[in-house]
Amino acid sequence: MALSVTEEGDKIHYETSSGTLTLPKSIVDHVIKGVGGMPGSPAQAAADLTITPPVLESLGMASAGNEIEQGSVHDGAIDRGFIAKLEADARSGGKAAGDSAALAHHVAAQYEIGHGDMEHALNDERTALNYAPGQPVLLMNVAYLHLKRSEFKQSLEYLERARRVAPENPDVPKLAGWAYYGLNKMDQAVLEWKRSFALRADPEVQAALDKALKDKQEEESYKENESPHFNLKYSGGAEPALAKEVLRTLEAHYSAIESELNFSTPDSIGVILYTQQAFSDITNAPNWVGALNDGRIRVPVQGLSSMTPELARVLKHELTHSFVQQKTHGQAPTWLQEGLAQWMEGKRSGDSASALVQIYDAKQGASLSQLEGSWMKFPSNTAVYAYAWALANVEAIVQTTGMGDIVRILEEIGAGHPAETATRNVLHSDYNDLMQSTADYLRKNYVR
Ligand SMILES: [Zn+2]
Repeated sequence: MALSVTEEGDKIHYETSSGTLTLPKSIVDHVIKGVGGMPGSPAQAAADLTITPPVLESLGMASAGNEIEQGSVHDGAIDRGFIAKLEADARSGGKAAGDSAALAHHVAAQYEIGHGDMEHALNDERTALNYAPGQPVLLMNVAYLHLKRSEFKQSLEYLERARRVAPENPDVPKLAGWAYYGLNKMDQAVLEWKRSFALRADPEVQAALDKALKDKQEEESYKENESPHFNLKYSGGAEPALAKEVLRTLEAHYSAIESELNFSTPDSIGVILYTQQAFSDITNAPNWVGALNDGRIRVPVQGLSSMTPELARVLKHELTHSFVQQKTHGQAPTWLQEGLAQWMEGKRSGDSASALVQIYDAKQGASLSQLEGSWMKFPSNTAVYAYAWALANVEAIVQTTGMGDIVRILEEIGAGHPAETATRNVLHSDYNDLMQSTADYLRKNYVR
C-alpha cells in the first residue's frame, strides 16, 4: 500500500489524499498462517515434514512398466486416451492387465502431485488401487495424499491396510508417524518413527523424530482435558475451572458454526491454553498476534480465571478458522479466512467503513488477490487494514446474498478451484467487482 501510516497508542492513522483516516488497532488480534502453521509448531511441521512418497517399482513389470510410464504422461500432459485403453484391457484381461492400468493411474497421480493438484492425484491414486487392490505402495500413496490434505484419520486407515500386507516396509511407520503427529498424538508418532528408523536409517525420519521429541518434552508439563469435539491442553499454571469453561464455550460455538457452515470437522480439534510468555516463546508470532490457529487453536490466557466475553470471541474466531481450514483442505485465501472468522465472532465494519471507503476510492488499498497469501510478514498497520477490508468483503456478501454464498464459495475452493474462480462461480463477480460492491455496501450502510 502506498500510504503513509503512523501508529499511536491503540490507533493507526493513514494519510490519504483526502485526509487522515484512523482505524482502531484492536481489530487485529489473531491470525492464521495459510497452510499448516508457523515454524516450529506441530501442525506446520506436519505440513512441512520432508517426507517423500514411497516409490512404486513398476509392479514388477520391468520394461512393460517403462512403456506405460511414457504412454500415460508425455508432452507435459496426461494421456487419458492411453489410460482408458489400458482400463478397457483390464476389464477383460487378468491380473497383469489390471497392474498396467494401476500403474498408468499411479503415473498420472505422480504428475498431478508434481503440479500441486492433490484433488485429482487422490482420484487417480484411488483408481489405481481399484485395479491393484492390496498393492502396498499404492495404499501408501493414497495415505500420503491424505496426509498432504491434513486428513490424518483417513490416512491411517490406508496405512493399517498397508501394514497388514507389508509389515516390514519402513515407509508404513514413517507415514503413520506423520499421521499421528498431525493428530497431535506425539507418543504414537515417536513410536512409529522409531520403528521406521529401526527398519531403515532414513534422515527424513531422524529429523521428524527429533522434532517430535522436542514438542513432546515441551508439552509434558501440560494437563489435558477432552470434550466431544476438542482435545485441550493447558499449562500447569492455568486454572482447571477455566479449562472446563473453555471447553463448554467451544462446544457451544461448535454447534453454531457447524450449522452456519453446514459442515462437521472429521477429527477432534486441538486447543492449547498458554501463559503469555510461553505463547510468544513457542509461536514466534509477530507482536500484533493475539491468539492463533495453526491446525491447533493456541490462546494465551494469562491472568484469567474464568470465561470473559473477549475470550469467548477469540475462541469463536479461532474455531471458525479450523472449520474453514478443514472444509477447504487448507486452500481458503487469507482474506476469506480472516473475514469470516471476524464475522463469526461478531465484528462488523461500522468503525472502519469510512476509512475503508476512502482508501478504496483513492485506489490505495491492497486488492483481494494481494490478501490471498500469508499475512504473517505484514507490519501491524498493513495487517490492520487487511483485517478490516477482509471483514468488509465477507460482511458485504453475507448481508447482500447470504451466508449460503460463503458456504458455496468454500465448497468450490474445497473442490480444488482457485479462490477467485470459486468467487466468480458463486457470485458471478471477479475480485474487482466484489471489491466495488463492498465499497458500495459500506457507503450505503455506514457512511453518512
Ligand atoms: Zn484470524
